[in-house]
Amino acid sequence: MSAPTQIQKPKKPRIIIPGTQHHRVRKTVQAICFIIFVTLPLFDIMRIDLPRQRFYFFGAELWISEFSIVFLTLMFLWILIAAMAMIYGRFWCGYLCPQMIFSETANGFEKGIIRFVNKQMPNAGPRLRRIAAAFLFGLVLLPASVLVTFVFVSYFVPPLDLFHRLLSLDIRTAAGIVGASVTLVTFLDFALLRERFCTAICPYGYLQNMLKDKHTLLVHFHDPDDECIRCNKCVRACPMGIDIRKSSHQLECTHCAECIDACSGILGKLGTQTIIQYAWGDSDSKAAPKGNWFQRIGLRDGKRVAVLVLLLVYATGLSIAISVRQPVLLRIMPDRITLYSVDADGKVHNRFRMMASNRSHIQASISLSVVDLKDAIIEEIEDRKVLEPGQTIQQEFDVVLPPSSLHPGINKIRILADVTPGKLGQQFSENFFAPQDSPKQPGLTK
Ligand code: SF4
Ligand code: SF4
Repeated sequence: MSAPTQIQKPKKPRIIIPGTQHHRVRKTVQAICFIIFVTLPLFDIMRIDLPRQRFYFFGAELWISEFSIVFLTLMFLWILIAAMAMIYGRFWCGYLCPQMIFSETANGFEKGIIRFVNKQMPNAGPRLRRIAAAFLFGLVLLPASVLVTFVFVSYFVPPLDLFHRLLSLDIRTAAGIVGASVTLVTFLDFALLRERFCTAICPYGYLQNMLKDKHTLLVHFHDPDDECIRCNKCVRACPMGIDIRKSSHQLECTHCAECIDACSGILGKLGTQTIIQYAWGDSDSKAAPKGNWFQRIGLRDGKRVAVLVLLLVYATGLSIAISVRQPVLLRIMPDRITLYSVDADGKVHNRFRMMASNRSHIQASISLSVVDLKDAIIEEIEDRKVLEPGQTIQQEFDVVLPPSSLHPGINKIRILADVTPGKLGQQFSENFFAPQDSPKQPGLTK
């Protein structure tokens, strides 16, 4: 007797990000991004202060001269952007990009204003209603452009300074002219370009095309059973005005998933699942193995793991560089115009120079002392040298020793700098020169 034939259940398309609520998720993520976009510069969390040449990075006030930290930060951000593009495709464009967020907000406002005008002016001609809607939209867009520009420029200029310039309507100074020009560009962008900016101007879309490969996350139309009812709802829902059924690799596609929601909505009513979905590459997603957790978050080959490791290396290097960074940068060096001098009491003087920069937000103080040699004193500098926030000084001082504490010729000393704020006392090993024979050599006496 032959074995009963097993009835195979038809496999359902695998939906990598389940649910049909991408729009809601995207709007929530965009709202969080907007808050972050505004908060980062206004609270000095992350911004470059061009006039003062400072770089604020999560509580640390870095000086542009701190090359290693600035380099590590830029490399970290660059690799982060590249890794995101490689693994998650246009996720940045669809969910996180300020241009997209403001373009969609402008679209929403414009539609609302058109509805309002149509309701308020039912008897006016279409031309008059269009003019009224455009005028009202311009009225809303102008302050919105000023606000967006203010936040954007705050990434490069102190926000308080910018606020004062805005209040005084400064369009005479270079900074004021730049601010007014950026406001005009922002206004024109959201009035005329919006999503067109993404395909015509933004380099990130082109960069993403270079970085993506067969495992990159994309929005994929997959319909082997010909379930598409050709309702065109996905095309109508697409903010970029494209048809995802033609290709998953169209430059215009920002992977916003509005077409997935549209398709889920219409096919859900017919009792079947969406045929547009997120997929890792455009291979046959039904046949694609489900994979373990790291494959499910996008780490699907060695290249991705290598990029992640590189990112971790830079993140670790950056955290170490920031944690060992001293808020007061201090250098002490000898001033060798004269090797030494001897004063009337027979004490030997060596001259040094101190260079100090207070890179912190608070007042700093430096106190110098000499260890190793008995009876050493420091002259011509205050016991506690005070530095205001951001201040840089250069000051010369003398280390003075009695001959009884010295060997003829070279003596090793350590100058100890007690710095506040700072983690540890800083030590500087220096040579101290004493006369070879008598301390009262002619020509060297003070
Ligand atoms: S095709 Fe879909 S995912 Fe791509 S931009 Fe249009 S709606 Fe968004
Ligand atoms: S929404 Fe879905 S069913 Fe309708 S045309 Fe697009 S892919 Fe086909």
